[in-house]
Amino acid sequence: MVQLLRSLTLMMFCKKASGLLLPYQNSRASVWHTSSRCVRSFSTLQNEDEKMDAEESLVNGAARSNTVPAGDSSSKRKRPQPLEPPPGPETFPLWAYEPRPFFEFELLYESKKSLARVGRIHTPHGVIDTPGYVAVATNAALKGVDFRSADEAGQQLIFCNTYHLLLQPGTDVVEEAGGLHNFINRKNGPLITDSGGFQVFSLAYGSVHEELSTGGELKRASPKNKGRDLKGNAVKVTEEGVIFRSYRDGRKFPLTPESTVQAQKSFGADIIIPLDELPPYHIDPTVLSNSVERTHRWEARSLNEHLKDVKEQAMYCVIHGGLDRDLRKKSLEYLTSLPFDGYAIGGSLGKNGDELMELLEWMMPMMNEDTGKVNRRNKPRHLLGIADEPSIFGAVRNGIDTMDSCYPTRLSRHGTLLSREGKVHIKSGRYSRQYGVPIDRECQCSTCMQYDRPYLWHLYKANVSLLHPICNHVYNPMLL
Ligand SMILES: [Zn+2]
Repeated sequence: MVQLLRSLTLMMFCKKASGLLLPYQNSRASVWHTSSRCVRSFSTLQNEDEKMDAEESLVNGAARSNTVPAGDSSSKRKRPQPLEPPPGPETFPLWAYEPRPFFEFELLYESKKSLARVGRIHTPHGVIDTPGYVAVATNAALKGVDFRSADEAGQQLIFCNTYHLLLQPGTDVVEEAGGLHNFINRKNGPLITDSGGFQVFSLAYGSVHEELSTGGELKRASPKNKGRDLKGNAVKVTEEGVIFRSYRDGRKFPLTPESTVQAQKSFGADIIIPLDELPPYHIDPTVLSNSVERTHRWEARSLNEHLKDVKEQAMYCVIHGGLDRDLRKKSLEYLTSLPFDGYAIGGSLGKNGDELMELLEWMMPMMNEDTGKVNRRNKPRHLLGIADEPSIFGAVRNGIDTMDSCYPTRLSRHGTLLSREGKVHIKSGRYSRQYGVPIDRECQCSTCMQYDRPYLWHLYKANVSLLHPICNHVYNPMLL
């Protein structure tokens, strides 16, 4: 019954998703890999000597190849040397192009009016109905919501961030626990992890919003502070990978296309992401082109590392190119020609919802093409880091299957709750006498079944730490 209701809702969702414009949007992309020698340095380096060795090996590797500061349009001192193009699809083993027995995308329905579609992703830890919202558990925990509550609400795929898990508790702790599913005791729910690069580059270059708020100047990557994180620590990008410092204790971490895959193997999520570079929104076209090329090489290296031991994990590529259509097309064509199991869309997707929609409307028809070698419509598509309320409609209309964002939890912490009747600004006094009225009259979550608006208004006004019942509601509206 619930499933039927869900399917019907999804169908309605596809029909409804037509012609909406979006508000602000951030975007995300991922980062890179390392040599096997550096893999262990992620979280297991025991002393300063080992750390220095790891750093030295990266730096030496960089000297042998290229040293190109990301986003640096004035790298006149060290002119990049021509690099090998990324490996072609013929360099990957034939078996890698065969269907995976443990991961399947089932296409159930395609709209005749748009690119919207309904599907089902089968993973080793459960099914993901699409289109679907992906909750973000940054530190392997949902903010204010227990995994059981999220599961009961119908949340299926959950996103965990490799960057944060590398720093705390570290790959060794999660690995010894038997992987993330065991560590968080969520054994029947699919998980996805990213490469860690998104956070590294975000800390260095700031968000699109921050760029815009400083009039186009990169707040954290200004000429004075270029390539540094919030504390002024250098984020060193080379062909080999990136070295960053832990915001927790200042330790240096090398992150490479190979090492992120090794880390994600330790975590054991159902879906993993290769290393890519997240260039800032404001970027010189030549620098962006170089960045996309580097990302292609990094993603191919990550894929090769992944294929050494697949471990019943699926790997999605991350399509880049920013708003440059030639680069987007090039990235899409190259990455979809490789044996990835799904396609994530990352990089800069514009400064607002209009730019995002323009890009998706232009790009997504290509995702339905059958090239003769690969039928792109048969693989799932994920929109990285964007799932605000209006964007969901536009993304689904353009054939996006899943999308992740902290949007609903961030919104709720600031007192705005989503409902089928619109946004409920629960801290407003006008809800203080609406006895017997839940946040959402149709919602079946435990909060809406137990509490009314006046009590929740009181909780918000009294103490934010009492917001647990509110948080229980957060995910339900996103599961339409
Ligand atoms: Zn609810």
